[in-house]
Amino acid sequence: MVKAIVQHEHGGPDTMKWEDVTLGKPGPGQARVRHTAVGLNYIDVYFRTGLYPSPLPLTTGMEAAGVIEELGEGVTSFKVGDRVAYAGRPVGAYSEARIMPVDNLIVLPDSIDDTTAAAMMLQGMTTEYLLQRTFHVKQGDTILFHAAAGGVGLFACQWAKHIGATVIGTVGSEEKAELAKAHGCTHTILYREEDFHKKVMEITDGKGVPVVYDSIGKDTFEKSLDCLRPRGLMVSFGNSSGPVTGVDLGILGAKGALYVTRPSLMVYNATRPDLEKSAADLMKLVASGAIKVTINQTYPLSEARKAHEDLEARKTTGSTVFTV
Ligand code: NDP
Repeated sequence: MVKAIVQHEHGGPDTMKWEDVTLGKPGPGQARVRHTAVGLNYIDVYFRTGLYPSPLPLTTGMEAAGVIEELGEGVTSFKVGDRVAYAGRPVGAYSEARIMPVDNLIVLPDSIDDTTAAAMMLQGMTTEYLLQRTFHVKQGDTILFHAAAGGVGLFACQWAKHIGATVIGTVGSEEKAELAKAHGCTHTILYREEDFHKKVMEITDGKGVPVVYDSIGKDTFEKSLDCLRPRGLMVSFGNSSGPVTGVDLGILGAKGALYVTRPSLMVYNATRPDLEKSAADLMKLVASGAIKVTINQTYPLSEARKAHEDLEARKTTGSTVFTV
């Protein structure tokens, strides 16, 4: 028996209960991982509410670090005692221990402790694919990144600065603006008070940006399109304010023959070589000090409810980790 956050119905944070669950033995291609730290991500909210469908009972969570306790038949690429981390499906990270396919595991170097790993894998590898593969951000580019002081946001500010790009970041408060700037964001826009389209056009001398990274969704989608230069790319990668629905393709033409993509980490890191390269690129930048993993909130896993309330109330900044 282990303790885990379990939901018997989708809904608000109060549907998450701290319960005993039975863990089976790892099957072929699987490992039992004893968690030492678990990451909080906005995607956990989508699973909790049912926006992203999943069967019940549900243990949400997609990111953790820990130690391999037992291996299933035929697994030779890992050994018991390996310190590992993961980010991605299947859900179930909000638990003291779990069964996980070994294909999703990455062995941690000594230089990265478990808490840091649980804070960086999902948001860091997301930043990797967004800036290197969805759109290849280059030195001299100016990009617009929404929620720049959030978990993914602080990784993105630092990674883009390392590349030599200029980041225009939207943020919800003055304090968040300071934080984003301290992580490499050049221009901050308080998008709850200011018209971010107008500000982007001022900053770019009316040209617009070649790419917008928009994880806010419903509230910012249309105005984000206006910030693009002709044939620019809209990267809509999240739904923090609600999903984007019913897009009229005609507006892409009218606003400048724009491109739109809706990427996901699971697709970009679906193969083992892609996952390994993504993790290695991230770990290299963390080890070099180019990216600092900023953990601004820590909660016991049993208090996942409070963490979700704070995340949805926009009270968190940077990364959040659960202690186990
Ligand atoms: P964040 O730490 O960025 O938290 C979300 C932030 O969004 C808030 O702090 C807030 O910042 C902003 N926000 C704006 N409007 C709202 C709203 N109505 N409700 C709540 N928050 C709002 O979370 P993560 O770093 O975990 O994730 C960021 C986004 O990236 C999420 O949308 C997530 O789903 C997405 N994502 C997508 C992935 C993919 O592969 N497609 C992978 C990983 C993350 P502020 O106050 O500054 O506005």
